[in-house]
Amino acid sequence: MRTETFLHITVGILISLVIVILRPQAVDSLLQSKWLGEIALPRYTDGSERESRTPESTDLVSLFPDVIIRQWRPEANKVALTFDDGPDDIYTPRILDILSEYDVQATFFLIGSAAEKHRDIVQRIRKEGHEIGNHTYFHSNLSRMAPWQILLDLGKARKVFSDITGEDVIVVRPPYGALDPPAAKAIGDEGYNVLLWTVDSLDWWGLSKEEVIGNVLPKVESGVIVLQHSSGGPDEDLTGSVDALPEIIETLQSKGYSFHTASEILEDIKVQNELKKKAEEDAKERARES
Ligand SMILES: [Zn+2]
Repeated sequence: MRTETFLHITVGILISLVIVILRPQAVDSLLQSKWLGEIALPRYTDGSERESRTPESTDLVSLFPDVIIRQWRPEANKVALTFDDGPDDIYTPRILDILSEYDVQATFFLIGSAAEKHRDIVQRIRKEGHEIGNHTYFHSNLSRMAPWQILLDLGKARKVFSDITGEDVIVVRPPYGALDPPAAKAIGDEGYNVLLWTVDSLDWWGLSKEEVIGNVLPKVESGVIVLQHSSGGPDEDLTGSVDALPEIIETLQSKGYSFHTASEILEDIKVQNELKKKAEEDAKERARES
């Protein structure tokens, strides 16, 4: 057994013992401490999206309908633009410039360790009315991690975002869309929501502007969540994705679409669920009376 693996297992057992003995808040602050956090959190990063993306084997949305969202059903023509893997100082500022020009708000699923390096960009994202989502601390593949490691990673990123913005970020998007049922359960139990996507621009292939537009526009209908990236690995060129953005926005605006962020989607769904619940209760009441 490799020393590193042995160390991870030992630390895992120790942390489990501490979790049983101590209160959750105390455990959380312990895990956030630099020395223990670094040892306990192996870097299960799988490189670029291109190398690691795999189709989901389980339909997690139907297993965890209260936690995981892939699409929503708004009353009006609504769509959500989302950008993963930022922030950086190359593509993210260009995307922000375009969104600002068209007065459109989006959700940026940021990597905690990248946010620490580009605090000014994180602040700019919030200042310009966009929303931040948690894309883990190390761009980790959550389906390869134990629930306690997942919560540690997400908690570490969550703390970075709250230190920079003063706000609590509870919306998560798993890197590579990789999530298995135990991971989904742990994330939901911790009070997070998971926002997946409906339409993949596939911009992580380094596609041209025309190709990105072709992957997005024909698939847009009300309630879809579009995935693009605002940063990539060293070999990933997102120029086509950035250049496609003005035409995507203009076309959708001309068709009457409005643009919404993660918390607006969650709010829409919450209101709809409450209405549905009330309608069901009313129907039951009527059945009892008749
Ligand atoms: Zn990603």
